[in-house]
Amino acid sequence: MTKEYSRFGHVPGIAIGTTFDSYVAMRAAGIHNQTQAGIAGLAGRGAESIVISGGYEDDQDFGSEIIYTGQGGRDASGRHIADQKLERGNRALVTSELEKLPLRVIRGADRKNPFAPLTGYRYDGLFWVDSHWFDIGISGHKVWRYRLVAIENGDIPRYQIEDLFKPPPAENQEPRRTSVTVQRIVRDTAQAKYVKYFHRHTCQVCGIKLESGGGPYMEAAHIRPLGRPHDGPDIWDNILCLCPNHHVMFDLGAFSVAEDFKLIGIDGNLRVRKGHDIGVQHLAYHREHVFNPFVEPDTENADLRG
Ligand SMILES: [Zn+2]
Repeated sequence: MTKEYSRFGHVPGIAIGTTFDSYVAMRAAGIHNQTQAGIAGLAGRGAESIVISGGYEDDQDFGSEIIYTGQGGRDASGRHIADQKLERGNRALVTSELEKLPLRVIRGADRKNPFAPLTGYRYDGLFWVDSHWFDIGISGHKVWRYRLVAIENGDIPRYQIEDLFKPPPAENQEPRRTSVTVQRIVRDTAQAKYVKYFHRHTCQVCGIKLESGGGPYMEAAHIRPLGRPHDGPDIWDNILCLCPNHHVMFDLGAFSVAEDFKLIGIDGNLRVRKGHDIGVQHLAYHREHVFNPFVEPDTENADLRG
């Protein structure tokens, strides 16, 4: 691995708000190690930094929250001519989501974006990759999208990738402490609580019950995700009662549910109970934007630069 790909987090000596006039200058400073691509990182290792500069019309900037579009699928003129694939930089962003790695965000000049600088590029600090999904763009091709959320805590450690992927030294018995904000907002509203109660705290996928001395544990999983841009409703036709494993798999799109409640991506059927009507339109949204089942990776291309 080349040295310039080894850094996550802030680059020492470069304050938030520092501006650069070109990709060459950003690369020289180590803030964005790419000659022109918007995503710097390695599939399977994580993304270090992204540039948002108005090149993708689907990008949406809300300041401390960004809906970012993946790379690829466009010809030299920027026309969208093919599906974007979940590989290279796009996959690196998912690694960052799964491993909770801080991502440097650089905004490039874009007169349509009130958060962007007027000229050049500006380092705007660290974000988490909160979630990913896909859309079918106007052109009819698949586009990967990411919700990036600003890290409020300014005290973020500077990771060395070598540290992240090797075991700690034997004498170090202290658990690794990193500054991590809550990734999944637990929103157990009355409706969510009732869904769990209604299903007797039994996973609707595997049927497991997790009993403890303090009571049963299950999670309420929203089919169409809450929050923008999905804006799934927090009402019970959009909620499933799932065990933690199946909740994570469902949120990551490892499986989905057909209209007849047959599971897709894994075997079996969703366990439904009369009286809990599940919104088939929400299931359709999950299939059309989140479902992305595991396929055996192509090992030859597993570690390409993004
Ligand atoms: Zn389960």
